[in-house]
Amino acid sequence: MELLNIDNHCKVYGRGENQVTALDHVSLTIEKGEFAAIIGPSGSGKSTLLHIIGGVDVPTSGKVYLDGQDVYAGNSEKLAIFRRRQVGLIYQFHNLIPTLNVVENITLPILMDKRKVNEERLEELLEMLGLKDRRTHLPNQLSGGQQQRVSVGRALMNAPSVCLADEPTGSLDSHNGHEIINLLKLSNKKYRQTLIVVTHDENIALQADRIIGISDGKVVRDERMV
Ligand code: ADP
Ligand code: MG
Repeated sequence: MELLNIDNHCKVYGRGENQVTALDHVSLTIEKGEFAAIIGPSGSGKSTLLHIIGGVDVPTSGKVYLDGQDVYAGNSEKLAIFRRRQVGLIYQFHNLIPTLNVVENITLPILMDKRKVNEERLEELLEMLGLKDRRTHLPNQLSGGQQQRVSVGRALMNAPSVCLADEPTGSLDSHNGHEIINLLKLSNKKYRQTLIVVTHDENIALQADRIIGISDGKVVRDERMV
């Protein structure tokens, strides 16, 4: 079943001499439950593509549909709700709130949405992330790998339609990097969580169901591995 439809998408930044075409007529569909890896050289448009899918950046032209809904059709308030409920974002750097503990960081998107925390899901996630005995720790009391696991928890707490990870292992050693990818894969399999990972690491890309190569803002490779 199709989850995402990116239809003839262009993103142009700046104007005049400074104009950069970050995405150049990109069309892609992503299936529900798919694990796609996005690869490509630096500056090729990978992060821009994730931001467009995640409702973080506004397309210059073209549409994005999630579950048949036009992501950019509403106002900015609607877009913010879409981001909080439908999208889980993970970056290379953890982006945790330093004054909030593990549980508070993980449940932040739910609290911002004024919704009730699903305690069962929270416990399940803490267990999966190996953070059960770190729940009241602040980010600076955690290792880099643990902090990144908190940001995985925060991204997955809402059970979003799609989890987007932009070089999630980029600031980790290979052991912690493996762990993060294994957690994302576990959630992909266990919850059929659609997963899109931007990576430079060929070993990670080869674990995906599908490899999408981007160069100069265009899709230059689209290969299903299974
Ligand atoms: P990647 O993630 O593949 O390294 P990006 O998607 O970050 O590439 O960037 C693609 C192109 O768009 C680059 O040339 C970059 O300089 C440009 N770009 C990205 N974000 C902005 C922005 N906010 N303003 C202007 N140019 C940008
Ligand atoms: Mg990038």
